[in-house]
Amino acid sequence: MRIIPISVPTPFYVGPVNVYLIAEDPVTLIDTGPKTKEAVEALREGLRRAHFRVSDIRRIVLTHAHEDHCGLARTLRDEAKDAEVLVHGWETGHRASRLEYEEHRALLERAGVPDEEIVEMRQMYEGLRAFADSFAEHEYAELIDDAELEFATGSLRVVHTPGHTPGSCSFLREANRTVIAGDCVLKRITPNPILSPDPVDPTRRFSSLAEYMVSLARLRSLAPTLVYGGHGEPVTDYEELFNRYLRAIRERQAEVIRLVPPASGATAWDVARELFPGASDMHRFLAVSEAVAHLDLAQSEGKLAVEISGTREIYRNQGRRDEG
Ligand SMILES: [Zn+2]
Ligand SMILES: [Zn+2]
Repeated sequence: MRIIPISVPTPFYVGPVNVYLIAEDPVTLIDTGPKTKEAVEALREGLRRAHFRVSDIRRIVLTHAHEDHCGLARTLRDEAKDAEVLVHGWETGHRASRLEYEEHRALLERAGVPDEEIVEMRQMYEGLRAFADSFAEHEYAELIDDAELEFATGSLRVVHTPGHTPGSCSFLREANRTVIAGDCVLKRITPNPILSPDPVDPTRRFSSLAEYMVSLARLRSLAPTLVYGGHGEPVTDYEELFNRYLRAIRERQAEVIRLVPPASGATAWDVARELFPGASDMHRFLAVSEAVAHLDLAQSEGKLAVEISGTREIYRNQGRRDEG
């Protein structure tokens, strides 16, 4: 089975995204790139170099529904004369309105984000939507954990690896222990667990970081020798990266706990602003996501307490006494 990486430019801070062509019947693309002219051109060129055309694509598989990964799915599907589109059922980004506005707003309010910031974040999100087309429920098939995507000479196993988003999936080629992991595994950066409603109960928050750690361990149990990520070069030393990620998570958690004053407490927004004082626009949403993810994990491990004050959650540091 030939897996051919195609680097596709994005207008986002993260840089180019990796699209993977499985050059075998049925010809399959894993991820697509954002909906921009530059991305379509780069993708066509990548396919041409591998002696394929868009019209050869029979199946489009999405690791997750962020714009840089799913943006061109509809364009390609239409040009390829109704190639099948597959995405995990917990991934809502391909639907009409990625995070339902009210659910999203409630999560940001609980995190203590001021109203005017929520309005700005919403506008930014509306801007992002221009880089992807949405799909109606009947226009895609669901990726099921542990199912096999069959090809002429083998298969790829679907491995649900939630964390970065609830419906993030990886794909395992068992014969040579190769994994295509989307944004679950990135060589140079630690992926953000993005603030999301729980797909099963949208009034709750998805436990992104706890889920992410389980996913990392699950990939480790597959003993991969080669991991293709959503951005950057492939990872050939997953064990080393796994340990580095866990260390980074523990260090960040200690830092977050230190930022929570014992008596007065803090909201996730307070913590986010201390963690990333210079964060502007999109990065403020990512900063809140990061703070919430670590506060949730610390709370679930009994290291912080949380109480509701009005619409906001206030975290308190139980382990320390007020000084002075
Ligand atoms: Zn992503
Ligand atoms: Zn990405």
